[in-house]
Amino acid sequence: MNSLFIEFRDPLFGIIVFVALIFIIAFVSYWWGRLRSKEDHRYLERFLRSFTKPPSQTELHREIGSSAVSQKSWLLVAQTYVQNGDFEQAVAIYRSLLEMQHEPHRRRELLLLLAQTYFKAGFLERCETILLKILGRFPRTPQALKLLLFTYERLRSFDKALQVLEPLDELGNDIAGDRRYLETVSLLQDARTDTAAKCRRLAEEYREHHTLTYLTFEYLFRHDPAVAWAALELSASRIIADILWYLPEEHLNLDIISGDGYLRQLYSARGSVNLAQNSSEFELDVLIKLRQSGQSGATLQFEYLCGHCKQIFPFPFHRCPNCHTIDSVVTEPLLGKAVADFAPSERSERAYEV
Ligand SMILES: [Zn+2]
Repeated sequence: MNSLFIEFRDPLFGIIVFVALIFIIAFVSYWWGRLRSKEDHRYLERFLRSFTKPPSQTELHREIGSSAVSQKSWLLVAQTYVQNGDFEQAVAIYRSLLEMQHEPHRRRELLLLLAQTYFKAGFLERCETILLKILGRFPRTPQALKLLLFTYERLRSFDKALQVLEPLDELGNDIAGDRRYLETVSLLQDARTDTAAKCRRLAEEYREHHTLTYLTFEYLFRHDPAVAWAALELSASRIIADILWYLPEEHLNLDIISGDGYLRQLYSARGSVNLAQNSSEFELDVLIKLRQSGQSGATLQFEYLCGHCKQIFPFPFHRCPNCHTIDSVVTEPLLGKAVADFAPSERSERAYEV
């Protein structure tokens, strides 16, 4: 029985103890390594998670107050938030910077940035309040006056917008275009003037100044196509190509159409007349050729380019939403797939609603 046990003086006992020790050390080392690896992974996850959510208002305020980052850098961060459409964070940064800024001119700049952010975010009343605060202290601030003009325009307070033009005029800004535009949209909004009188006034103004082409003919072709055709200068046809394209058949003036090269091509491409065999404009040429071969699966669609800032929009505009230039819309035709149950007259009404 004693032969089954090994005495501690036996060399074999020492070897067994040595092997057992190695095993225990390897085992402990393996589990320690695994534990460390798990801990590191958890730490990394916690660290990365802190970047996925934006800092809270309190965190932002504390960070800005610590002066660890310069004010210029915070302005760049706020600008990036505005570009990404995160107006809430940008407003929080501007407000925190304002609380720490006591120099009047620097405060004016920050208030202006805050007003611009509220304008972009659509908080027009807040924007107006801040701009009036700036102008109360610094009345000769053209940027604030211009932004106040756009704000009143969006709020459809055209009388107030016209009042803002006076100080802008005194500061040497060219306000003739803005005045004509505001007076025209104010006239179109006026419930006391009847539609016939509005059409007459629009046509007269257009004959005199040759401006606000899209705005004028959008209204005239919707309410009185006969007056619109009479007032139309054929050189302006390309600017309102979409309005002409979606015009119902019963409102076409074939005498005028047959007398102008571009209109012959446009309406031959639409299939209303057959007066052009080709066109110098690619889209119209393709549509004319398709119709000649008996196919009608394509049609024209439109996009709208600002002739000033070159930004493209899917909808027509009278004042560019990006650079605020008036009358800068350039209508660009595009080839598109025709939708069978979408009559031109229906599309015309939809186009006017935009
Ligand atoms: Zn523009």
